[in-house]
Amino acid sequence: MAQRILLIEDEEKLARVVELELGYEGYEVTKAADGREGLTLAIAGGFDLILLDIMLPLLSGMEVLRRLRKSSSVPVIMLTARDSVTDKVSGLDYGADDYVTKPFEIEELLARIRRALRHGQASSENELLECGALKMDVPRREVTVNGSAVGLTKREFDLLGYLLKNKGIVITREQLLDKVWDIDFDGGTNTVDVYIRFLRGKIDDAFGIKLISTVRGVGYVIKDEPQEGGANGV
Ligand code: CA
Repeated sequence: MAQRILLIEDEEKLARVVELELGYEGYEVTKAADGREGLTLAIAGGFDLILLDIMLPLLSGMEVLRRLRKSSSVPVIMLTARDSVTDKVSGLDYGADDYVTKPFEIEELLARIRRALRHGQASSENELLECGALKMDVPRREVTVNGSAVGLTKREFDLLGYLLKNKGIVITREQLLDKVWDIDFDGGTNTVDVYIRFLRGKIDDAFGIKLISTVRGVGYVIKDEPQEGGANGV
């Protein structure tokens, strides 16, 4: 089945060119010309990737991203009009996966799309991963706890997915860096701790559950708690 891309872009000419080129490559493209329509479509879901312009009518791209990330981890590539460092940094802070500066070569955009989609599928052998109240729908990139959606960035999603796939096995920081981050990533193992903290904030703390355990001096593990009949006293 064709991979579906949502293009949120108000410059009609650019949107048509991108739609055409992506169509040639076999992607199925849906267009939205303002932020509000884009957000509605994005939240409705069913897209494998979203291309999101920053300067949009009605709702800015940054605001679309911020709201979308409350419930979805779909890969997002920002299209920035200016070579603005601020836009890139805040885009990545809000959970964008990548950005392309206009004007861009279509080949560059295609390469980034392929890369983002590859990352998105890195952990999709099992369609549904779960642990206790937490469920991860891998193809839809959706995470819920007791049915409530958890908005994760792509990296957080991939990290959680890797730990869930290896449930019960202690994974070292080095393994996580190797499997979840780019091979050429040189951020060091502290980065893993930072992202574990993000995940705990959004899941463990937000829902009052204990999902991710630290194994001191080794790494991290997600375990199914043994189901016991009585109430636990903790
Ligand atoms: Ca624009």
